[in-house]
Amino acid sequence: MRKQIVAGNWKMNKTFSEAETLITDIADALDEVDLKDAEVVLCPPALYLEMATDVAFESNFKVGAQNIYPEDSGAFTGEISPLMLKDLNVSYCIIGHSERRKYFHETTEFLKRKADALLKHGIRPIFCCGEVLPEREANQHFEVVQKQLAESLFHLTQEAFQEVVIAYEPVWAIGTGVRATKEQAQEMHAYIRGLIAARYDGATANEITILYGGSCNGKNARELFEQPDVDGGLIGGASLKTEEFLQIVTSL
Ligand code: PEP
Repeated sequence: MRKQIVAGNWKMNKTFSEAETLITDIADALDEVDLKDAEVVLCPPALYLEMATDVAFESNFKVGAQNIYPEDSGAFTGEISPLMLKDLNVSYCIIGHSERRKYFHETTEFLKRKADALLKHGIRPIFCCGEVLPEREANQHFEVVQKQLAESLFHLTQEAFQEVVIAYEPVWAIGTGVRATKEQAQEMHAYIRGLIAARYDGATANEITILYGGSCNGKNARELFEQPDVDGGLIGGASLKTEEFLQIVTSL
């Protein structure tokens, strides 16, 4: 059975003490929730990963990073390797986020290397894909997502691919307050599952977790998560407030 996941992408927010308070508040709140087989993943800034994994050790959530460099070690000033994440018990890492594609010019080829580097160390990539507004308006959104998946992930073996989590994040919905409708989300998620079935097989497609991301909040999460191919969410802004994040988690 595929896993339902709510992952919080904190981006570049919170001081250390604010992050510590938020993580412990969320951990305490999660103690009261029966997650069944679902998973909560918190992705704080890299500086706070060690603190987060310490709290996670006795709590009901996993820790994810927001970025890596696709080498184990070496002369890459300022970068963090998947080996370092593994050493800290980090379970997931976001790759392909539209902010990194846009501001850091990350290409599909570079993301392919990142996926390989993470999987080599047993860290599950949360692979973001999605179209910008002009692409949706030109009805190119399916083609765009197909290319992103094919160029960065579809070289993986079936065994490796099964460890990947996909997050469909229409770029026009990220941080804008304008989210995809439940029909738009379901349509794209079903399309992605179809691509996976064509590349691998139906059983693999059925096992893959596909998250929705983009202005998902406590009020709209339930109707998105109720869609048959939406397995949870990647949450930005709304993951920075304990109550709202918990509302999203309990919408699964
Ligand atoms: C994100 O950046 O991954 C995201 C989904 O942001 P927001 O929820 O703030 O739109």
